Amino acid sequence: MTDTLSSPSVDADRYLVVGNPIAHSKSPLIHAAFARQTGQHIHYDRRLVDTDPPTAFAEAMRRFAQEEGGRGANVTLPFKEAAFALADEHSERARLAGAANTLSFVDGRVLADNTDGAGIVWDILRQGVSLDGCSVTVLGAGGAARGLMFSLLQAGVRQLVVANRTLPRALALAADLNPALEALGFGVTIEALPLADAPSADILINATSAGLHAEGLALPQALFADCRLAYDCVYAAQPTAFMQQASAAGVPVVSDGLGMLVGQAAESFRIWRGLMPDAAAVLKELRASIGH
Ligand code: NAP
Repeated sequence: MTDTLSSPSVDADRYLVVGNPIAHSKSPLIHAAFARQTGQHIHYDRRLVDTDPPTAFAEAMRRFAQEEGGRGANVTLPFKEAAFALADEHSERARLAGAANTLSFVDGRVLADNTDGAGIVWDILRQGVSLDGCSVTVLGAGGAARGLMFSLLQAGVRQLVVANRTLPRALALAADLNPALEALGFGVTIEALPLADAPSADILINATSAGLHAEGLALPQALFADCRLAYDCVYAAQPTAFMQQASAAGVPVVSDGLGMLVGQAAESFRIWRGLMPDAAAVLKELRASIGH
């Protein structure tokens, strides 16, 4: 896979992915593939932004939108909350997450969305696993976990547990989101538990960053007992420790988060360009290019 959009032509609409670090990001490859596939004339770059001073991110976005004619930005760690904070308008799913990974610059205004949840739901359904009526246990209570809740419930999840190493963080997530979910009429209350008490469920999602460091999570023995899908939001060249634990326990479908990455990018592309690319084709290409 190649990023053939590296030299912007004058009339190409400009987008970028912003983060720190950012060199590893596959978003330029993915969006270049979407653009080729759909015949859209865009230029998509990556940009490193300093974390100090704290205003650097907002200033970088202002410059991109107002001086460079930027049309939109994907935002990754550690700026998702800052992206949410600088926006003039927020989608419901961004509001619930309190974080944004997709900014659109339209008529001098900044619109924020969060497509991570749509990305994981797309990837789970793609693998032939239904979410409708399911129980889901999410491990982790950070930004990624928050970003998934709305889309999981929208897909029909009926029981939702968030289990985290630091219990107060899971409790805060539930306390923040439950009133809003009730107001939206989902009829599901998120239960917050310590990681050690994480219950088995139809679908287990690892939204901790533990897999990044190849550490095994200290998980309850019976966690995988009733599980039909174990999904790790992280992706790496080799199966993560969580994926290995799930496979060893006999879970029938075990997935990394590469599909989530492509799925969230496809939803961003749809927001910006008004058409949905063939994410499955790009995922296949991306997987082949990284050799697993
Ligand atoms: P975050 O806000 O920093 O949260 C990290 C979470 O991981 C916290 O719940 C933390 O628990 C937990 N954790 C870290 N190390 C742990 C360990 N050794 N044992 C148990 N729990 C541990 O990060 P985030 O933004 O939520 O992202 C989480 C992961 O999702 C990242 O690896 C990110 O790359 C991935 N992600 C993937 C996609 C995708 O498209 N595939 C999209 C978004 C995020 P404590 O609260 O106890 O510290």
